Amino acid sequence: MLLIEADGKALLARHGLAVPRAALVRAGEAAGFCLDGSGPWVVKAQVPAGGRGKAGGIVLCRTPEEVEVSLARLLGTTLRGHPVTACLVEEAVCGAAEHYLSLMVDPAGLGIRIAWSRAGGVEVESAAPPAACTTSPDEAAILAAAEEILATADPAERTALRGAVRDLARALLAEGLLLVEVNPLFIGSFGTLAGDAKVVLDLNLAEGQADLRALVLARPDAYPDAVRKLQEGFDYVELDPEGEVGLVTTGAGLSMVVVDEMTAAGLRPLNFCDLRTGQLRGDPTRLVRVLDWISARPSVCVVLVNIFAGITDLGEFGRLLSDALDRTGLRLPVVARLVGTGAAAGRAELARRHPGVIVEDDLLAAVARAATLCKP
Ligand code: GDP
Ligand code: MN
Repeated sequence: MLLIEADGKALLARHGLAVPRAALVRAGEAAGFCLDGSGPWVVKAQVPAGGRGKAGGIVLCRTPEEVEVSLARLLGTTLRGHPVTACLVEEAVCGAAEHYLSLMVDPAGLGIRIAWSRAGGVEVESAAPPAACTTSPDEAAILAAAEEILATADPAERTALRGAVRDLARALLAEGLLLVEVNPLFIGSFGTLAGDAKVVLDLNLAEGQADLRALVLARPDAYPDAVRKLQEGFDYVELDPEGEVGLVTTGAGLSMVVVDEMTAAGLRPLNFCDLRTGQLRGDPTRLVRVLDWISARPSVCVVLVNIFAGITDLGEFGRLLSDALDRTGLRLPVVARLVGTGAAAGRAELARRHPGVIVEDDLLAAVARAATLCKP
């Protein structure tokens, strides 16, 4: 998962990377905000997405008044599909060279890919930066690979860049990160300063690391899906806040198929969901949660349940779904496709306790039924 810049920078700073002085300002805190020093400052929308500069989410401000105006203009809006709930107000770095530097896990080569360019900034994608790949994921190999690609750097730049590579390598290896990208990396008489940080962490690893877990859990606004996963133990990703169909599905692949079929039928799925029904163990809580999250979205007009049962016993699932429907405040039509182990028992349970649930045998028929309920 991609961290917001403020979290990415904090994580990299722990491993020695220098970052500009900054303050994080949340919605509602903007009034009276003031930074010491004489400016200028940059106000930066904190959303877990790249390309904020091009989308207007990065504003250079010369006075505290301009900072206030920019905060008021950005907070509460949506940028690159994410709500702006916080902004970073940073001391601007002026007159320094803007480099690009990144380290990335290369799963195919089992090594680390390192890329550097003297021409950092928002257009870096248009010119592929020189890159090298290590054959083992360790600091010495990364530093050796860096020497190869830094061969064309000026001697002074090279010294500064070596230090930044070492800090990024330590952060990547110690935290089990998938990507650390600093663009721009300012280089000047001060050494290096990270102007931006794109840090991707492996949520499955973070689950077992107390400090990374805490970092994610501290920001339910910025990382709603990841917080849900850490708290509930299964995957639910909101795809479209204006979605029409709420999905109650299990198995990552099958869930993606349902999302694809929905989209092909011209419907807008609200969410991806991998319930992991094998872990329900007689407890309907996960189902109650999913139905509640779906109910909270006013654009949804129908719920589609699609369970292809292997290990899961649909007799038990039918009971749990009925329990969940009793407990949630859901007021929407439900279409259910239950196939596999114990399907007859599951359908009988639903027919007895929730006769309003529409049962279909075939996925495409279920999708078509959802479509007619949504767009009569
Ligand atoms: P991104 O577009 O999401 O990658 O956001 P960045 O944080 O990289 O900001 C976009 C661009 O704004 C950078 O590439 C810089 O050119 C510029 N920028 C950001 N912070 C500063 C700063 O402190 N000083 C200066 N001069 N430019 C900045
Ligand atoms: Mn950037």
